[in-house]
Amino acid sequence: MDALQTKRSTAGKVQLFSSFFSGLQNAYGTYDPVSGRSWQVKKLVTEKTILDHLRGKSPYGVYLLVEGRTRAIVTDFDLADYSPPHEFMSRAKHYGLPAYIEASKSKGFHAWIFFGQEGAKASKARLVVKNILEEIGYSDTEVFPKQDFLDQRACFGNFINAPLFGGLVPMKKTVFVDPGTFDPFPDQWDFLESVQRANEHLLDEIIEMNGLRSANEGGLKPKNDTTEQRTSGHSLPPCAQRILTNGVSHFQRVSCFRLAVHFKRMGLPYDITVAALKTWALKNTPPNGKGVIQDSEILKQTSCAYDHGYKGYGCNDPAIKPFCDPNCPVNEWRKQR
Ligand code: SF4
Repeated sequence: MDALQTKRSTAGKVQLFSSFFSGLQNAYGTYDPVSGRSWQVKKLVTEKTILDHLRGKSPYGVYLLVEGRTRAIVTDFDLADYSPPHEFMSRAKHYGLPAYIEASKSKGFHAWIFFGQEGAKASKARLVVKNILEEIGYSDTEVFPKQDFLDQRACFGNFINAPLFGGLVPMKKTVFVDPGTFDPFPDQWDFLESVQRANEHLLDEIIEMNGLRSANEGGLKPKNDTTEQRTSGHSLPPCAQRILTNGVSHFQRVSCFRLAVHFKRMGLPYDITVAALKTWALKNTPPNGKGVIQDSEILKQTSCAYDHGYKGYGCNDPAIKPFCDPNCPVNEWRKQR
């Protein structure tokens, strides 16, 4: 396998590569492939920098953070264990975020999530990724960019070694791998062209729906303390009351999940919530002769709500929106943000 050996032109490859792995233009990182020692190079990132990387002459490390934005966010799993990156990828997918796994230069793996050319706010991307890591039990994993923004203390940030270093590609290192087999994709350029990029709007939704807040706002914790006060302590918001009282005809699964999240927030034990949701299911009126949500699905949705840190209200969810009350205090709070 050769990083540059395929049907595409060299210029096309440099362009494609740069569309994923670019950041600060006035500095980059590199390392000695033999000793592993790494250092910063205070020079412009040029086409030659990229070509030297792809040809295996000199590795290129990218400083992703530029003016508080980033084109990618990377988690660095440093163990030779497939499960953490795999779990991360699955959890990211649950949130609608496409993640891709790269076999790093050493024994571990990087999981990449890419954004469009305009990038995404690093603070949002880091918040969402750290939440995913916490959910899968790997909260100590390093995340790049390591900062939300650059300041006098971190005027460059930290670089992450870019994939496809020509000197390691033949050893199946620094290549993207099939998450099913962990074998390298046979054509890394075809793979890159197929990559889906996430957008900032999705990060906003994940942050809102799960009530996440950054360390600056008091840690990676749900915002429920304040929002609960805005919804009269531990009562159900109007949307949930309507769903619970009248049942639903569509989106039974999502409605079930959202009700379970509310019940958990209210402090109801798991068993009571399951019993309440089974009673609720009997009120549902799915169209076209479809059946009401099965007990097994109620158990699954309730477990999902109780096992993870979901606290959001799902206000933007198409299943919840039709039941929204414009006078809901949460609505007021959302407008003020
Ligand atoms: S704003 Fe609307 S959707 Fe959100 S919690 Fe209140 S009633 Fe429900």
